[in-house]
Amino acid sequence: MCGRFLTIKMRQPSPEFLYASMPKIYPRAVHGVFAYWRWLGVFITQLVFYGLPWVEWGQRQAVLFDLQTRRFYVFGLVLYPQDFIYLTGMLIVSALSLFLFTAVAGRLWCGYACPQTVYSEIFLWIERKVEGDRGARMHLDESNFSLEKLVKKTYKHILWLGLSIWTGFTFVGYFTPIHSLGMEFLQNRMGSWEVFWVFFYGFATYGNAGFMREQVCMYMCPYARFQSAMFDHDTLIVTYDSERGEPRGARSRQVALSASGLGACVDCSLCVQVCPTGIDIRQGLQYECIGCGACADVCNGVMDKMGYDKGLVRYTTQNALTHHWDTSTMLKRVFRPRVLIYTGILWALIIALGVSLWLRTPMRVDVLRDRGSLARITTEGNVENVFRLQIMNATEVEQPMQIKVRGMPGLALTAGAHVDVLPAQSRWAVVDVSLPYDALPAGAHKIWFDVSNADGSVNITEASVFIVPP
Ligand code: SF4
Ligand code: SF4
Repeated sequence: MCGRFLTIKMRQPSPEFLYASMPKIYPRAVHGVFAYWRWLGVFITQLVFYGLPWVEWGQRQAVLFDLQTRRFYVFGLVLYPQDFIYLTGMLIVSALSLFLFTAVAGRLWCGYACPQTVYSEIFLWIERKVEGDRGARMHLDESNFSLEKLVKKTYKHILWLGLSIWTGFTFVGYFTPIHSLGMEFLQNRMGSWEVFWVFFYGFATYGNAGFMREQVCMYMCPYARFQSAMFDHDTLIVTYDSERGEPRGARSRQVALSASGLGACVDCSLCVQVCPTGIDIRQGLQYECIGCGACADVCNGVMDKMGYDKGLVRYTTQNALTHHWDTSTMLKRVFRPRVLIYTGILWALIIALGVSLWLRTPMRVDVLRDRGSLARITTEGNVENVFRLQIMNATEVEQPMQIKVRGMPGLALTAGAHVDVLPAQSRWAVVDVSLPYDALPAGAHKIWFDVSNADGSVNITEASVFIVPP
């Protein structure tokens, strides 16, 4: 332990091998309060992921990222590539939330909501249902080929593949209307890109959740590597209380703890057996630990059986362990300056994002001068400038737009005063603006276009320049 931040143990590379394959991990099933929260995380995230594309909003899918027309629909919002700032804002909010949650309670995201954890948990659940718990699975893998083994393995992979394809299909359903995608799928007439992404995403799910599992967290995810910069001595982490637990050792339940001459750890190794990354929490905080709390759940069960106090493995902070703080003193430290700063910045960003979305005008106008002609003299003796107005309608109803021009006496629109813009469409309107020839001296004169819709709910003013030739 050194400095303000926690030191996290890293696995040392094997000196004999440049690469040694990891032994397969067979996590044992576990029940308890953290398992309950983890499954709640699975249900909520998957309910949202699998359910959201099927939700309708008016005549369309509620959430759809339509890349072909470059429009993103999020319930009542229609976002264009020009609204990229909102996406950036959301990403910054997500990153800051991650920093905040990590500073408060370690790898909460990893343990309870990360897709890798969630899908590994679901795939593992299927594996347990088909092949049994840890011992049965180990026995099955070690056993010689048999019909039972073939049936179980085939059945498991069929279920895994079915779920993976469904996951890939759902993923593509965020980018292509899922109802029509479903019809195309049933009629075997999906486009080649859609087929590619369904299978690519499905294959990634199958590989990552079925086979790679903890190796994705340990070798592929960059988050595990920089988390130590976000942990400090007041961060809640899953910790083994070595002062209470050591010296560890097996003992009879009949012998009182005080008479055993041992610590509370009975060295049952259950905490290692339930760990999805296969580590021993008793060796201290290690970067492989995703903070899932499975070891705390199983150890609490052991403590219960032994008649000892729970919490030998628990969520606590380094300071609480060192100074023997009670829970309330420990939790008071949650609101330390670092956390308050993260929280303040996060709320400021969320409010700013919310307000700017709320105030976001559903129409947008850009004015460009016609590059073909700066100014021309008409047969009536007027000076005429041609402008191109790009009008974007981010609403979901057709908008009849009225264009007016102002800025100097005698200025008038001779063409293009009205334009109808279809729902979620962007349209160019060419407008001719004229001025009596001798109304102003030669030069560039500032003018304004006022663009409004029929019910007056949208009023946009855009400036431009009117050229009077010498
Ligand atoms: S589950 Fe608890 S008692 Fe058993 S080995 Fe782990 S820390 Fe010790
Ligand atoms: S050590 Fe405990 S909290 Fe960490 S990953 Fe393993 S079971 Fe989960």
